[in-house]
Amino acid sequence: MDGAFFDGRTSRPHQVDVAISEGALLFEAGGTRHAWPLEGLRVEVLGDRVRLSCDAGADGRLTLSRADWRAVLGRHGRRVEARGRRREGRVVLSLAAVGLTMAAIVFVGLPAASGPLARHTPPDLERQIGDSFDAQLGLGMKTCSGGEGQAALARFGHQLQARTGTPFDIRVRAVRAPFANAMALPGGRILVTDKLIAFTRTPDELSAVIAHEVAHVERRHVMQAMWRSLGAGLLLDLVVGGGSGAGQQAVLLAGSASDLRYSRRAEAEADARGMELLQAEGLSSQGMAPFFRRVAAGDGEKAASPLRELVSSHPDSLRRAQVSAAHARPGAAAFDTQAWASIRAACPPARAPH
Ligand SMILES: [Zn+2]
Repeated sequence: MDGAFFDGRTSRPHQVDVAISEGALLFEAGGTRHAWPLEGLRVEVLGDRVRLSCDAGADGRLTLSRADWRAVLGRHGRRVEARGRRREGRVVLSLAAVGLTMAAIVFVGLPAASGPLARHTPPDLERQIGDSFDAQLGLGMKTCSGGEGQAALARFGHQLQARTGTPFDIRVRAVRAPFANAMALPGGRILVTDKLIAFTRTPDELSAVIAHEVAHVERRHVMQAMWRSLGAGLLLDLVVGGGSGAGQQAVLLAGSASDLRYSRRAEAEADARGMELLQAEGLSSQGMAPFFRRVAAGDGEKAASPLRELVSSHPDSLRRAQVSAAHARPGAAAFDTQAWASIRAACPPARAPH
């Protein structure tokens, strides 16, 4: 392991080995044993390294490769999994359902196994993961207050859901965040940030983005990305960790989730399927291309910070704009004038803190 600890006082890093136990990150540096509670742990992914810091750790910083970090989480996850087998039947059952494909991870590797794993993840398990995830994200991204706009978004989600074979209840909602993006969570929730709503210029653009996310849910890309990026240990831990560990694991999960990425193939599939869903409803699918063209333009201008997230999570925007334009068809707007106005107003400027 190539873990490096910077104590914040001297510039020389200490080489460290890291483990997780009893709800804390443990390592020894310069003769001192450190135990950082997972509750206060911050996880940032910087390229192929992960930087960890902690409220209790003062100025200390710990960095290690993503592979090592995954191994630390994985080792921890396997221990929890072993404990889990002795627990409630319900949990053991969920594990048994994914147990078959677990072997595939060992032999084939997580990226290759993530597709089958996602398809075999029991919907109930995915819902549980989504609930934990949403609770964690909710701490940082508050749901917008505009009831009428939220209702219009939710209605549209259900309209598309009816066209899919998904076992999940699609729930679209607007949230406040410092970046422009839309994201699907495990279990069918779709979050659209206030900055994304502001970025879209027409109902066609917004409906295209949401349809794309609905397609991610339907094709179970969300779970696929979770399995691939976060690793089985962490996911199992989140669900099986139960009682004491669940909250802490969710913190880790939220931290690692900033690293969540769909494969290029999954993105192309969601683009195509999203447009198909719109067309099946007689709605315009002409919003995707201009949306991606403008994202690509933002890319060229080194993207203002609220947009950077969107640009980085949608690579190949120009190529996707061309493909989308080639398949676009005219149709009705997903939101009428009144619904569109209410969505635009769903996230009013934050009031002064009281
Ligand atoms: Zn996508």
